[in-house]
Amino acid sequence: MSDQGTTAWFVLLILVMTAGAITLYMTPAIVAFKRQHPHRIAILIVDLIFGATIIGWVGTLVWALITPRTADFALPVRMQGTGVRQEPSLAKAMKPCPSCAEDVLAAAQRCRFCGYDFAA
Ligand SMILES: [Zn+2]
Repeated sequence: MSDQGTTAWFVLLILVMTAGAITLYMTPAIVAFKRQHPHRIAILIVDLIFGATIIGWVGTLVWALITPRTADFALPVRMQGTGVRQEPSLAKAMKPCPSCAEDVLAAAQRCRFCGYDFAA
């Protein structure tokens, strides 16, 4: 085998080992993204910064594995279709009373503070 061929194989070996090392290093983040982990972005960041320390790597891997997959996401989905309407915005649902300047519900016909009649 020529020197050039040996060098090419050596470079290839280094590349494969580097790719393997990066994959291993990023395993906690990969696991977190595959599991749609609610904190996958945080896990990715912590893995990138502290993954070099064994504690950080093991910690993020455990973190990626232990938190329930759907608990944080299932709740809003489950609330849809229950008839419970969520307020789009508290500010939007209110209007100021022109008489006493207190905030009352936008749908109110009469001010609950001063009795001002909005319909009039
Ligand atoms: Zn009022």
